[in-house]
Amino acid sequence: MDMQSSLLDRLFDAGLLIDTGVEGLYGRGGAFEDVIARFERMIDAYGGGDGAEAMRFPPGMNRAHFETSGYMKSFPQLAGTVHSFCGGDLDHMSLLQCMEVGSDWTQEQKATDIVLTPAACYPLYPTIARRGPLPAGGGLYDLQSYCFRHEPSNDPARQQLFRMREYVCMGTQEHVTNFRQSWMDRGLEMMDKVGLDVAIDVANDPFFGRAGRMLANNQRDQNLKFELLIPVTSAAKPTACMSFNYHQDAFGAKWGLTLEDGSVAHTACVGFGLERIALALFSRHGMEIAEWPQAVREALGYPG
Ligand code: 5GP
Ligand code: ZN
Repeated sequence: MDMQSSLLDRLFDAGLLIDTGVEGLYGRGGAFEDVIARFERMIDAYGGGDGAEAMRFPPGMNRAHFETSGYMKSFPQLAGTVHSFCGGDLDHMSLLQCMEVGSDWTQEQKATDIVLTPAACYPLYPTIARRGPLPAGGGLYDLQSYCFRHEPSNDPARQQLFRMREYVCMGTQEHVTNFRQSWMDRGLEMMDKVGLDVAIDVANDPFFGRAGRMLANNQRDQNLKFELLIPVTSAAKPTACMSFNYHQDAFGAKWGLTLEDGSVAHTACVGFGLERIALALFSRHGMEIAEWPQAVREALGYPG
């Protein structure tokens, strides 16, 4: 059995994740959720003094905003759209007949105005743009959302629906790149506190197709994306548990985000992969939280 499915089986056996019959779609047990809640409190302890505006969006976003974002140009393979039955009585009868004979009943489903959120920050940009120019000193936002990416896998660290906690910063180039650097430093310190081995490396997003290869190379050459890597199912191929993204003025220009002086805002976002961090903890310290090292338990606020 490979390392990925054996970790997944151990998580199922311990009731930490719950099998749904679909790869990458899991229920979470109470103890797993509690680890995530405690780690989020640790994030709050680090970021809470920065004055970020907290917002929570549901895991679906406005399809028009999704279209404007350009996601389908870069990552069509990952997107998930919400479709619904929109017909009348006759259509309903033929739908039920399709289901009865086991043919594809989803063909007649129609796209709704909602698509699944691909990253926690996507609903933010149009929201902030609608407010007009950013205040002096820029903007800082605290987000958390379930995100969808269509990439079924038996690696528990590759899920189709997972939570991302993000801070997003908008302002001048210097302001947002300082923000990104400060979270790289904080991320290293936080993971050290919970006993995880980390490395930070330059990275790229999984841009689609041949044209995507160029975009990925460009992103790497310009150091636009870094990831904080932690061993989960493999020490040789550690998993990205945080990412640190500098968008230059691309999102500012796309959404019309401007600074007080009228110039286009630069943006950066920092994302914590909450399930991946919990998985890294279980993989490193074992399935029994009561047996985790005392210093790790203390950092997460477990009773002595
Ligand atoms: P990014 O937008 O950089 O691809 O994702 C941000 C963070 O979300 C990643 O650093 C990672 O921690 C988490 N993430 C990305 N893809 C997956 C996934 O397939 N499954 C899980 N559990 N987390 C993911
Ligand atoms: Zn983001």
